[in-house]
Order: sequence, then C-alpha cells, then structure tokens
Amino acid sequence: MKLYLEFEPCEECKNIIKVLNNQLVQIQTREEESAKFLRHITYNHSELVQAIVKDLPVQKLREEFRWFQ
Ligand SMILES: [Zn+2]
Repeated sequence: MKLYLEFEPCEECKNIIKVLNNQLVQIQTREEESAKFLRHITYNHSELVQAIVKDLPVQKLREEFRWFQ
C-alpha cells in the first residue's frame, strides 16, 4: 500500500524521511524507520491520520498497521 501525503513535515519527519530515502540503509532499518514514522505521524500529526482514515476503510488500516487501534 502506498500513501501519498501532502503536509508540512517537522524536523523529526525530515530526519526519518532522510533515512528512508537513503539507498544505503539496510532493509531492517528501513522497516523500523517506517514504523517509527507512522507512529510519529499518529501522535504528532493527527490531522494527517484523520485525512488517511477518511479515505481508507478502518478495517484496511487495522490489517496494514498493527499499531492502529
Ligand atoms: Zn513530524
């Protein structure tokens, strides 16, 4: 699943995105950073989560993201 999000990233977002965009980063690290990014968005950019939830069935979110309650 791919999400295209338009928002104003904060410093922490930018740091995580930088790691995710780094081709030299190992897959495991990339997965950890992805999870970190999603958690960060959940807690710090709730307006984004609301936008995502509005566009996606909640059931689908629960399947894709275990942290999503
Ligand atoms: Zn952020």
